[in-house]
Amino acid sequence: MDPSSCYCSQLRTLGCSWTSSNPGRRFYGCGQYGTVGGCNYFLWFDPPMCERSRQVIPGLLRSIDQTESQLHQVQAELRTVKTELQRVDQRGKRIQKVFLVAFLFLLLIFKNGKSNIENTNVGEVKQLL
Ligand SMILES: [Zn+2]
Repeated sequence: MDPSSCYCSQLRTLGCSWTSSNPGRRFYGCGQYGTVGGCNYFLWFDPPMCERSRQVIPGLLRSIDQTESQLHQVQAELRTVKTELQRVDQRGKRIQKVFLVAFLFLLLIFKNGKSNIENTNVGEVKQLL
């Protein structure tokens, strides 16, 4: 038997156990395991784990899972905030344009009014009063 092959002569693959009794322990298995024609070849690659590792590693893995879950939640919230920020920014730009147009309009009215006053002769102003 080829040492790199399993019982059904497929190329064996290196997998990793995530069971609570062997967390992170690597093993060789059939490359076709679970399919038609595959076999149940199994051989541990890593030596047996000590009891302390079996106690500590599952807790660390749960901690990593919780942290990743929180990270995904924060990333989703960040995407929502970015979308809202873009919407507020666009609204702010529209408001700026409205104020600019209003300012220019008022400036135009002011200039026209001032020029009318300048063109008005003193006699007309006295008649208005
Ligand atoms: Zn096999």
